[in-house]
Amino acid sequence: MTPILNADLHCHSVVSDGTLSPEELAARAKANGVELWALTDHDEIGGQRRAAAAARVQGMAYLTGVEISVTFADTTVHIVGLGFDPDNTQLAEGLAATRGGRGERAKDMAEQLAQVGIKDAYEGALKFVGNPALISRTHFARFLVETGVCKETSEVFRKYLTEGKPGYVPHRWATLGNAVRWITEAGGIAVIAHPARYKFSANEEFALFSEFKAHGGRGVEVVTGSHSPAEYVTYAAMAKEFELAASRGSDFHSPDESHTDLGTLPLLPGALTPVWDLLADRIRPAH
Ligand code: AMP
Ligand code: MN
Ligand code: MN
Ligand code: MN
Repeated sequence: MTPILNADLHCHSVVSDGTLSPEELAARAKANGVELWALTDHDEIGGQRRAAAAARVQGMAYLTGVEISVTFADTTVHIVGLGFDPDNTQLAEGLAATRGGRGERAKDMAEQLAQVGIKDAYEGALKFVGNPALISRTHFARFLVETGVCKETSEVFRKYLTEGKPGYVPHRWATLGNAVRWITEAGGIAVIAHPARYKFSANEEFALFSEFKAHGGRGVEVVTGSHSPAEYVTYAAMAKEFELAASRGSDFHSPDESHTDLGTLPLLPGALTPVWDLLADRIRPAH
């Protein structure tokens, strides 16, 4: 068994809704002591080649990564994929289809914001977009901060862009089964991202974990920037109960917005199987 590493297997670059380039993220991860890194942009693997090369330059081991948006029980759930073949056609096509509705959704979001007096939000959000195929709520949040509507992005998500608030547009993402299948058939493993974020009832959460397992899912994030220390304990127990491997990642997006920096969270509890134990032959070595 591999030892418990300082692994950070969840973060975002300008290829989705982060503000740093893959190279800047790699340097920051290395400076913070990360030994095994994965870039996991939303619904997009266009940054993987650069990230792997940058990890090599920094002398860090690398796993390919992605964070797929899924609709499960009328809720958006995120599934992280790790260690897949980035040249797999089915995965690329699935991700392209998942990204597909984002442009129209963004226009609908801007229309709603206009109704509460916030003009030109589509054009405003676009200025923050690094990848035109990947316009997200985060880019709108940055526009609302820039124009002084809100002080910080967390305030935006309390007042706008979320269910029941102006600028929220419901969207159907990939199915759970498809997301797990795309990742698995590309040779990777699927991991439930930040499970505490979904506010599911116990029954809904049981359904998510059971169906995820039935589709071939293998892991769950236990230590993440989205969980409290009490939630590390809860999801360590869930990992054991469902016989899932455990993952760790900051979900870092930006030095100005993220509370959790790359590589700075507590290490995984030793009693769990780390996801990298399932991916030994998929890790690109540091040198
Ligand atoms: P989208 O995929 O367009 O729905 O955007 C989702 C992204 O919005 C997430 O990946 C986060 O980066 C960001 N986000 C969602 N909720 C919050 C929140 N409460 N605080 C800060 N960022 C959030
Ligand atoms: Mn994000
Ligand atoms: Mn997420
Ligand atoms: Mn994320």
